[in-house]
Amino acid sequence: MLILFDYGHGGKDPGATFKGRHEADDVLVLGQAVAKRLRAARVVIDETRTSNVGVSLEQRVKMEWKKTYDFFISFHRNAFKPEVGTGAEVYVYKTANSKSKPLAAKIQRALVRVGFRDRGVKEADFYVLKHTRAPALLLEIGFIDNSADNKLFDLQFEAIVDGIANAIIEVTGVEKVSKCSTCGQVIV
Ligand SMILES: [Zn+2]
Repeated sequence: MLILFDYGHGGKDPGATFKGRHEADDVLVLGQAVAKRLRAARVVIDETRTSNVGVSLEQRVKMEWKKTYDFFISFHRNAFKPEVGTGAEVYVYKTANSKSKPLAAKIQRALVRVGFRDRGVKEADFYVLKHTRAPALLLEIGFIDNSADNKLFDLQFEAIVDGIANAIIEVTGVEKVSKCSTCGQVIV
């Protein structure tokens, strides 16, 4: 099982910002935590960036072309108008195949379970969804310009990580893992 994680924005592009908070940082921290959890379950995860550097959309896509990935998953946070938009949504390409939709639905359910408003699984022709070859998903993990969503993102961080990781583990067939809440050790 080989998956490419794509953390949106970075470097000179902070993504959406709100009260000093940058989307590029949120998605890097969250995505890397999910990657760590999956690696413990022996899923191989590549990443389009591992620090706060700029990577163009073309570079992200070209990275995906280099190997045959089982999934391409792009991490983002949403923004609209301060304190107006709320909730989580998962995007697949408009002609999404039979692999991306079930995973999108599972991840969306996991995000709703931790408390995000359900904006549903949606179709879009975003560049990274359109030009990648593997089944591709783009996650919008709450609105960064909504204080309640940010509170959820911070307080439920571990639950979000578990939810996304376990959704991936369920569809990829590797064993489910969880982290011991007291010692922090990964239990396979
Ligand atoms: Zn974004």
